[in-house]
Amino acid sequence: MVSDGTLTPEALAERAAGNGVELWALTDHDEIGGQHRARAAARANGMKYLTGAEISVTFANETVHIVGLGFDPDDEGMRQGLIATRGGRGVRAQEMSAGLAKVGIEGAYEGALRFVGNPELISRTHFARFLVESGVCKDTPEVFRKYLTEGKPGYVPHRWATLKDAVRWITEAGGIAVIAHPGRYKFSANEEYALFSEFEAHGGRAIEVVTGSHTPAEYVEYADKALEFGFAASRGSDFHSPDESHMDLGKLPWLPGKLTPVWELLEDRIQ
Ligand code: AMP
Ligand code: MN
Repeated sequence: MVSDGTLTPEALAERAAGNGVELWALTDHDEIGGQHRARAAARANGMKYLTGAEISVTFANETVHIVGLGFDPDDEGMRQGLIATRGGRGVRAQEMSAGLAKVGIEGAYEGALRFVGNPELISRTHFARFLVESGVCKDTPEVFRKYLTEGKPGYVPHRWATLKDAVRWITEAGGIAVIAHPGRYKFSANEEYALFSEFEAHGGRAIEVVTGSHTPAEYVEYADKALEFGFAASRGSDFHSPDESHMDLGKLPWLPGKLTPVWELLEDRIQ
């Protein structure tokens, strides 16, 4: 629970190992403060470990997540970049709360804060927990659908890091940048092509193909796109909590065989 997951790195490691995971990366949003604990917990549970983070980026007016894998967890450029990226979350959360108050939901900021481990990292997930707990909605998908996505009362557009900076922080810290769950963005074919091409031009080398945020049809679609662009492929659960995530750690299908797994490019970074 360093960003918006509900479990500690130690509890996650135990759960992952129990589900048969052999190589694990903890990827908190915009935060690497859990990396040393996660690595130690992976070792204690007999798993190999790669450092991880999921950086929020604004591209074509949409929020895109860029996963970094295998970087130095103590790299100063990465640390400073993430501090800057996190900077706007507090103000954004207050604006989200003001938007919700206009439709009669009072005290959402304070309510969300009760679920936050690190106030710098307050996110829409924490608002969702508050709105479910207080009975406004029955579950997280309903909260996002009615309140927290574009055009809805609690949605506040926000400018995160640039694609170029996020890829640079990861790469200069010795890691590999990966586009997280590309199927989740509402891009036209042209916008997606621009994302992939610019990402590659900045030094990005992989995309997530099999993830808890993709449908099986999207596994196939993005496997083909990885091959088309010459990207390596990644596999990630997007697991946040036993109550909120439909995909558990270690329960995803394997990557389609013809792809290069991103961890094969990171063999010397696996710990
Ligand atoms: P934020 O970084 O504050 O914009 O919040 C991002 C978090 O919201 C991530 O943990 C996502 O998994 C979660 N999220 C985004 N869209 C949805 C959705 N439609 N349903 C459920 N969770 C979502
Ligand atoms: Mn994500």
